[in-house]
Amino acid sequence: MATDSHGRTTFSRGVHPPESKHLTEDRPIEPGPGVAELSILLSQHIGAPCQAAVKKGDLVQAGQKIGECQAFVCAPVHAPVAGKVKELALRPHPVLGRCQAIAIEPQEPASPTLPSFSLPADFDPTRHTPQEICEAVRDAGLVGMGGAGFPTSVKIQPDAKPPKHTLLVNGCECEPYITCDYRLMLEWTDQVLAGIRLAQRACGASKVFIGVEDNKPKAIDAVGAAIKRAGSGSDIRVVSLQTKYPQGGERQLINAVLGQTVPTGGIPPMIGVVVINVATAAAIADAVLYHRPLTHRVVTVTGEAIAKAGNYYVPIGTPVEALIEFCGGVTEKSAKVVMGGPMMGLAIADLNTPITKTSGAVTVLTRRQIGQAKFERRQTACIRCGRCLEVCPENLSPTRIAHAVRSNLLDVAQSYFISACIECGCCSYVCPANIELTGYIKTGKIFLARQRKKMPA
Ligand code: SF4
Ligand code: SF4
Repeated sequence: MATDSHGRTTFSRGVHPPESKHLTEDRPIEPGPGVAELSILLSQHIGAPCQAAVKKGDLVQAGQKIGECQAFVCAPVHAPVAGKVKELALRPHPVLGRCQAIAIEPQEPASPTLPSFSLPADFDPTRHTPQEICEAVRDAGLVGMGGAGFPTSVKIQPDAKPPKHTLLVNGCECEPYITCDYRLMLEWTDQVLAGIRLAQRACGASKVFIGVEDNKPKAIDAVGAAIKRAGSGSDIRVVSLQTKYPQGGERQLINAVLGQTVPTGGIPPMIGVVVINVATAAAIADAVLYHRPLTHRVVTVTGEAIAKAGNYYVPIGTPVEALIEFCGGVTEKSAKVVMGGPMMGLAIADLNTPITKTSGAVTVLTRRQIGQAKFERRQTACIRCGRCLEVCPENLSPTRIAHAVRSNLLDVAQSYFISACIECGCCSYVCPANIELTGYIKTGKIFLARQRKKMPA
């Protein structure tokens, strides 16, 4: 943990890329487009994919479970709208390339309606047992909506060992351009807070911290006021953090707020901490209080090449192309469509790629921007400046790992803790030689995963 002269805390290392949130931060959440087909991917989470529970030609109702779990670490999927199952087929997946999906033709391809949420006047999380909360969250198919996609019911399960003393809520949204979580904190504040209190009840944490970066003062005020209204100020605190990327990484957030370090290769529960994102918290409230499954989410559609950037409420399964068209299309020849933000997002080649439970943004970058981001500049030899080491939030040696991968020495890359890399992109961002260090590291991880699959059990 580091503290600046104003007493604001943050994690060690990291970078300060241009924030570029002005395009959408003042745009309230609006309904997105109605579409002729939704593709519900059967793998939208960490863990085993779910199994289709419907077949071609079946009629489905809005909210019906259409993909079932057959493993503990899994999350079911539901139909966002009433319609007909067109087919079960492979569809583009933002991470896996292609994945089995259920294609649904909506009965009415109408624009979605913004959900209504009013907190019951007598809301009291202790009226729900931890097991009830966990089951509702599991049935609703909730996963970490900040990008990781870990099934939420597994994270917040009661009686887990070691016991959880702290619930840490991620309201940082440190990735440039993205503002969907910011708008949720401003517009759906009571829902977010109700979900936090339910998650606290489920996992048994005695302390709750909501980490928000200080470039979002309105969100800090809104959440603080909601805590006062709820009368739960004693055990829930909003922490204003110095704005820096990648503060939203679980390990970085724990370091910034609690001053603790998760061991290399470890996960937060090992030190008694559960981390959830604000969008996940809002979905927990929906699941427990209204029995609504996770079928829609807010997505920021942004970038200098988008005609009408904004924050849109859309059914999961909406193709990226439909979203871009709904936003007036691209205004100039764009170079890259990214699922997510420019630092950690993944470029997609197929615009039929559907929105998943973890897709917080679609960012359309121009050629000029990509040139500025150095990706198109010529790579030169490493000048041993050490900048990549100085910024790596995981304290790794990016240049050594990348060199090992380039030389096909995967065992050497492992000895430099390649698997501890969180793929934040900080090292590539600062490299004056334009070496795509993160790209090499990602490639090395893919090769290692393939090697592990081939190994006998
Ligand atoms: S090595 Fe990994 S964790 Fe470190 S800066 Fe590069 S991408 Fe980020
Ligand atoms: S930042 Fe680039 S040039 Fe500098 S040491 Fe790292 S890899 Fe080499």
